[in-house]
Amino acid sequence: MEVFYAIMFFILGAVLASFYCVIATRLPEGKSIVKPGSHCTSCNHKLKWFELIPIISYIFLRGKCRYCHKKIPFYEFVCEIVTGTLFCISYLYFGFSYNFYVSLILISLLMIIFISDFQYMIILDSPLVISAIAIFLLKGFYLGWDIAFISVRDGIFMFLLMLAIGYFGSKAFKREALGGGDIKLSFIIGLTLTFPYCLMALILSTFLALPYATFSLLSNSSHEVPYGPFLISALCIVFFYLDKFSYIINLF
Ligand SMILES: [Zn+2]
Repeated sequence: MEVFYAIMFFILGAVLASFYCVIATRLPEGKSIVKPGSHCTSCNHKLKWFELIPIISYIFLRGKCRYCHKKIPFYEFVCEIVTGTLFCISYLYFGFSYNFYVSLILISLLMIIFISDFQYMIILDSPLVISAIAIFLLKGFYLGWDIAFISVRDGIFMFLLMLAIGYFGSKAFKREALGGGDIKLSFIIGLTLTFPYCLMALILSTFLALPYATFSLLSNSSHEVPYGPFLISALCIVFFYLDKFSYIINLF
């Protein structure tokens, strides 16, 4: 049964990933996510059912549109495999539990933010709002409402902390230091991890972002570096390895 569920969650992840790609690329351009249905963005040919099977269709079509032979973005294929794999690992790691359901939300957010922030430098509001509400409700039902409200307090703490960092950062560097999306995402970090783990995630995110930021500032002219992907990655890592991080915290 374990193997059956593991496979089912891999498929679920891959299917949802195609939807997340649609969300992350259509919403920043102000397009609807339901209409029109899936189509080739180059020749507008409507995709048939066999062109819509995650992962398999990409391999079958050799990564190209059947009509105009325009390349299908490779990241969509990667996103489907990664989401499926992470859903599957989460199930094997957590089983049916509070941690599992929250990890599905975090992985979904991870995928959407990676695509929208790297492509458009945007972190969409609607996935953040839906995730925050879902995590709050899961906490309330599984861990108790007192804990859920303490988590909201820690979310607000993180939000205000990042707001302050952003404010003083832009004064110091004379340009926007943190995007509004990064600040809103920090609320979810506080809400999910609570104190002091949310601060560990923040510290970890700067370490994750540093090599990329250094590389991109040295190699190209644009000085805009998306921070959202590193924030959400750090949140996922701390959430998955909470016991390891609690060991570090207990050392102090
Ligand atoms: Zn086409």
